[in-house]
Amino acid sequence: MKARVLSGIQPTGSPHIGNYLGALKNWAKIQYDYDSIYCIVDLHAVTAYQEPDELRGKIEELAGMLLAIGIDPKHSALIVQSSIPCHAELAWMLTCVTPVGWLERMTQYKAKSLAQETIGDGVLQYPVLMAADILLYQAAVVPVGDDQSQHMELARDIAQRFNSLYGDTFVMPATHLPTVGARVMGLDDPTKKMSKSASGTGHAISLLDKPEDIRRKIMRATTDSQPSVDFGNLSPGVANLIEIASAFEEWAPARAQTEFHGLRYGDMKKRVAEIAVSRLEPIQEEYRRIVAEKGYVNQVLEKSAEHVMPIAQDTVRKAKEAMGLYTPL
Ligand code: ATP
Ligand code: MG
Repeated sequence: MKARVLSGIQPTGSPHIGNYLGALKNWAKIQYDYDSIYCIVDLHAVTAYQEPDELRGKIEELAGMLLAIGIDPKHSALIVQSSIPCHAELAWMLTCVTPVGWLERMTQYKAKSLAQETIGDGVLQYPVLMAADILLYQAAVVPVGDDQSQHMELARDIAQRFNSLYGDTFVMPATHLPTVGARVMGLDDPTKKMSKSASGTGHAISLLDKPEDIRRKIMRATTDSQPSVDFGNLSPGVANLIEIASAFEEWAPARAQTEFHGLRYGDMKKRVAEIAVSRLEPIQEEYRRIVAEKGYVNQVLEKSAEHVMPIAQDTVRKAKEAMGLYTPL
């Protein structure tokens, strides 16, 4: 039997090249080696207010995009989190074994709570729900970007605590990070990770950006006052652009140096832009083809939900039995 992979993405904003290079590209690649479940985590999205009609649209749009980047419904399940009630059910059980202190230490929670006067409980609970997504399917491997490493540690801690309190119930999940592209930074500010929820037109390259927009954003990306690429002294903005090109092309570090060392920034950016445009074009074409097929995306989501439901129900039942909760025959 193949080991199971699980990962998720929020239907917030537009998926960008950070999502793609840090996570989605890996999802498509490893789906043939594992029993794979990929999840659109809409319950996570509503930890921040989402305009309801917009959210509904984004879920279907994102499902189409995941199929376009190569998630193959013959090999992977593509599900929407809220269509499987077991996610929320298990999250409650895990909440009850999680010390608040563990959650308050999460850097994403700290950053978000500092930025607002009051903060929703969902933002604090976010990583518990993420642990539930993973443990629900007994996933062994979780391909994510580096920003999720801390949440993955927490998911393991929660699993361990549950297992030691109530007996072996959950598989311990391992984090799977890409070697290049694990943390793509904002083009406008290379000290901040590229995010769907960040504002600013020059921040992220969306997977559906037009070629001229991709070129413009890369040509305007923040670099430094040096004239040309010096691998002995790469500033964060330059390193980020080179990382983006390397991740798209899957170059070894030595190859990136041969390609870019000594190039003037303008020429380096032109080259990076052409790489991004040429790699995104086939994805965009496939996306247009998929969404033109009426009903196809929803059909994949429904079939996938049917396929994973028994796995989820089995784990919830095990967890309930372990805790002594009521489990009618
Ligand atoms: P949001 O701002 O709404 O949180 P996001 O861009 O962080 O959006 P998520 O849906 O939270 O996207 O994450 C989806 C996947 O993409 C996760 O595996 C995450 O680790 C990865 N990811 C997100 N941003 C980056 C990035 N800048 N570089 C590499 N991977 C990333
Ligand atoms: Mg995020």
